[in-house]
Amino acid sequence: MKSAPRWPLHPAPKEGEALSSWLNRVAACYQMDVHELLAHDLGHSQLDDLDTAPSLSLLTALCQRSGVELERLRSMSLAGWVPWLLDSLDDSVPAALETYTFQCAVLLPKRTRKVRSITRWRAWLPSQTIRRACPQCLNDPTNQAVLLVWQLPLMLSCPQHGCWLESYWGMHGRYLQWEIADAAPRPADDAIACMDRRTWQALTTGFVELPRRRVHAGLWFRLLRTLLDELNTPLSHCGSCSASIRHVWERCGHPLRAGQSLWRPYEILAPAVQWQMLEAAATAITLIESKALIPRGEQAALFQTEPHTGFTNGLPAKVPKPEPINHWQRAAQAIDEAIIEARHNPETARLLFTLASYGRRDPESLERLRATFTKEGIPPEFLSHYEPEWPFAGLRLNDGLSDSF
Ligand SMILES: [Zn+2]
Repeated sequence: MKSAPRWPLHPAPKEGEALSSWLNRVAACYQMDVHELLAHDLGHSQLDDLDTAPSLSLLTALCQRSGVELERLRSMSLAGWVPWLLDSLDDSVPAALETYTFQCAVLLPKRTRKVRSITRWRAWLPSQTIRRACPQCLNDPTNQAVLLVWQLPLMLSCPQHGCWLESYWGMHGRYLQWEIADAAPRPADDAIACMDRRTWQALTTGFVELPRRRVHAGLWFRLLRTLLDELNTPLSHCGSCSASIRHVWERCGHPLRAGQSLWRPYEILAPAVQWQMLEAAATAITLIESKALIPRGEQAALFQTEPHTGFTNGLPAKVPKPEPINHWQRAAQAIDEAIIEARHNPETARLLFTLASYGRRDPESLERLRATFTKEGIPPEFLSHYEPEWPFAGLRLNDGLSDSF
């Protein structure tokens, strides 16, 4: 490909903006549409994959034309969010749903959940096209960026304005009509705004601050997806937790399981059903954090602060005996979470491998350890050609993401 000269006009991409949206804004500078810009200027006619997996040759040309770094351009499509948001864009990976959705537990204990299996599945990618945007963002002519996350059933509100995302018809950049014309932006309630702030933090920083501690973005998305599936579990499978599930749905004001009687994965539900499910997830998180609901899943503890002791009203009082800390239990939990994270985060996988290989020098022993990691679902390619150094060489890689230790 011949080297492409720099475009004289090219607005900078906004944080979280979809590649198609940015290219629309660039094309508008030249009174063109995206098709004309890419076809005439770069000889690229494939527009379907812009926000999913644009080709490296296109990204390289865009990088030369705009000066925007290749990695930044890549993060404007879903391919740039693998493996944090989803494990793979390939929908034929075996056991993808089980690995993503059934390895954590929030409301329900693991043993009561029926593990589901389907042949073709990708986390968060909806079967129906979603056209939703923040009315305040798009009504501001200087800020008409459409975010990539708005195309997924992952958030209900705008992280910047705190109002509900609204549905629209047409194409942004050309013709856009809100489904509810002339409606004022609706402020999202605290539960939704809080959940969406965390999702936005995960997408933009790679981690989320939860009441117990900071977690990796990959774990946050899997916790959320787990919660959505738990809230869609038939009550007959929930045992003693059925009252909790019912309570969440009553509190958020929607019919139980958003009116679903048959189980289907979240991604193929109708958008209106997905919004109710997300609202129920936000309600469940608020109920867990306010201790109005007792969750039975192992990872629910992440939504709760450490138990407080030592409150005083100034009078001599019986000091409650602090609960003994079970360090072994905590260590086991931390290792379980690290294994979950290592399945999609190569840095955590290598760090865990470094720790687990303490005292093992001989190749055979390291090979056995590799086999154990593979059995735990950690991709062997995360460890291939990796020889742990001692002591704790992997800790140099720690950029705050591998916080389970
Ligand atoms: Zn907005």
